[in-house]
Amino acid sequence: MSETIKDSDWSVSEIRAAVDAYLKMLALELSGQKFVKTVENLALREASLPTRTKGSVEFRMQNISTVLMKMDREFIKGYKPAKNVGSNVEQLIRAALTERGVQPGDPTAPTADEQTLERRAAALQKQKIKEPPKGIKKPKRAASSGTVYVRDPEVRAWVRNEAEGHCDGCGEPAPFQKLGLPYLEVHHVKPLAEKGSDQVTNAVALCPNCHRRCHHSSDSEEFTASLYKKVTRLIPE
Ligand SMILES: [Zn+2]
Ligand SMILES: [Zn+2]
Repeated sequence: MSETIKDSDWSVSEIRAAVDAYLKMLALELSGQKFVKTVENLALREASLPTRTKGSVEFRMQNISTVLMKMDREFIKGYKPAKNVGSNVEQLIRAALTERGVQPGDPTAPTADEQTLERRAAALQKQKIKEPPKGIKKPKRAASSGTVYVRDPEVRAWVRNEAEGHCDGCGEPAPFQKLGLPYLEVHHVKPLAEKGSDQVTNAVALCPNCHRRCHHSSDSEEFTASLYKKVTRLIPE
């Protein structure tokens, strides 16, 4: 009988149990502690979800990741956000998260996580920010990693929108689209690693070729100097 229960028919209490187990694992992950997903999955089924299969619980965990991602909150890296979440299930998960004090995050908040930064910037690009954002004068390194800096998604969005689909280096149109927007990479003219700022006066939108050229070519210094001439908002730091 239990196999015939449809995945969409999860009860409120089942969703709550899954959310509780998820938040427990998330807290462990964020504090750098280890957990074993299969062990947690089994414990959850034995305690609260006796009619659910391992795969079904796994899928629900991915649904919770999706909802957290949409809420601009951190999610468990090992549970890739599932593409399709039924709207009813999404509502139940949201309600359970809200009950547990999980509030939507700030979609303009700086972050060091590249995926989050990219998602936030794309959303902001579509809203078209009018004033140039302040950005971050002295970007800090993320606690978890020595080389990744916390950056402002508004700066990324604004710099890309200013380029209007064309590379600030060569003037050619972006080579392809991503997330419904022209694909251009935001480059810090004075690198963050050399204490450059994450501000629109130190950032350009480049096609992948020009970006590589800045970092790897034998004429990278001359090419960088040409950017200061072409892009008038840039201020040497
Ligand atoms: Zn280019
Ligand atoms: Zn770069």
